[in-house]
Amino acid sequence: MAASLTAEIISVGTELLMGQIVDTNAAYLAARLPRLGIGCYRRQTVGDNKERLTETLITALNRSDIVFTIGGLGPTADDITKETVAEVLDDKMKFDASVARKIESYFERMGVPMAEINLKQALVPERGAVLDNPNGTAPGAVFVSDSKKVVVLPGPPREFCPMVENQVIPYLLGYADCWGAIESRTLKITGKGESTVADEIKDLLESEEPTVAPYAKFGEVHLRISSASPTSRDAFAKIDDMEAKIRQRLGECVFGIDDDTLESVTVKALLDAGKTIATAESCTAGMVSAAIADVAGSSGTLLGGVVSYANEVKMNTLGVPKEVLDTVGAVSEECAKAMAEGVRKVTGADIGVSTTGIAGPGGGTDAKPVGLVYIGLATDEGTAVMRNVFNGGRNDVRRRTVQKALDAVRRFLK
Ligand code: AMP
Ligand code: MG
Repeated sequence: MAASLTAEIISVGTELLMGQIVDTNAAYLAARLPRLGIGCYRRQTVGDNKERLTETLITALNRSDIVFTIGGLGPTADDITKETVAEVLDDKMKFDASVARKIESYFERMGVPMAEINLKQALVPERGAVLDNPNGTAPGAVFVSDSKKVVVLPGPPREFCPMVENQVIPYLLGYADCWGAIESRTLKITGKGESTVADEIKDLLESEEPTVAPYAKFGEVHLRISSASPTSRDAFAKIDDMEAKIRQRLGECVFGIDDDTLESVTVKALLDAGKTIATAESCTAGMVSAAIADVAGSSGTLLGGVVSYANEVKMNTLGVPKEVLDTVGAVSEECAKAMAEGVRKVTGADIGVSTTGIAGPGGGTDAKPVGLVYIGLATDEGTAVMRNVFNGGRNDVRRRTVQKALDAVRRFLK
């Protein structure tokens, strides 16, 4: 993917370098640039130091069309961004009386007197534009030199974010009306690890247009497909094509795109199929039901569930035979089967899902290690039980169980 216009972001502030605050502004801005057809190729952080900022700006301007700076626009001595940008671009800056009036009136609205040093904030580029700041005193600015632009933005997020939305984006849109579009779509995969996925689509990962980038998530792999094209429609055509290729390779491991979650697609599949579901949960103690209920509209499919932690509940409520518990135990294929069938019967649901396992950290043996989980799926086609050994701590084992149980339902409905 090659963008027609390239940009980089320089966040200025020693507090950022020291880890005292997190650079939320750069992420906010970076997320908005693709839509403008601007490729953000680099992000850097530099302290409130003129020499290092100068060096960073010069390097950035040598390789990018647009440089964004964030922070360091305050009135005090450590706020050096605007002066440094002006110096690097050889822009003398001019005092803008109307900006000064806006700053004065901001102080009036706040009911505090304005300090003389605030007038420094009324210096604006000789060449370029002023970006109004109704939420603070420091206006932003665009400095222009030859074909390059430096967009200078304030640090406080409540000033920064509205300025990006209301000033920067409209400015950039008006600056050249056709740079093309950068569009993305994320494919979500479960049931295969990142390296397996990477191996199976090795050649596609090498594609330059559109690009395909893998991200390992908890129990999932996400593949972001991105295209930089003359129009949004061209970009999506290429993305559609790549998506089809990936789906062909990875099959039903691809469970959704973009905002889809495993629970949302599972609930949708249940609703589309007109099937009801109920859960019998031991090691997850209701987490599978809760995941289903997280999705709006789940009342159309979720009948209920039994948190059957104790053997008595497994026997008395779900009808798990005492003999099963006495011989093979609660963490067994037989128990998972009886639980899933039991809850299906008790509730009258079309699908019964069960979980029983050893979440740890204690309770594991050689034969039944921590992480051993049986997941049962009882339907009108019979009952299937999946044996899993999940890794990780107690919380991980339980979360992986929920994912696997939802995925089992989703795959059954396919
Ligand atoms: P400054 O404009 O550098 O004086 O920053 C003013 C305030 O804005 C700082 O104290 C931070 O709380 C906040 N801030 C500055 N830069 C960022 C950033 N990149 N992301 C989030 N907050 C920031
Ligand atoms: Mg600062």
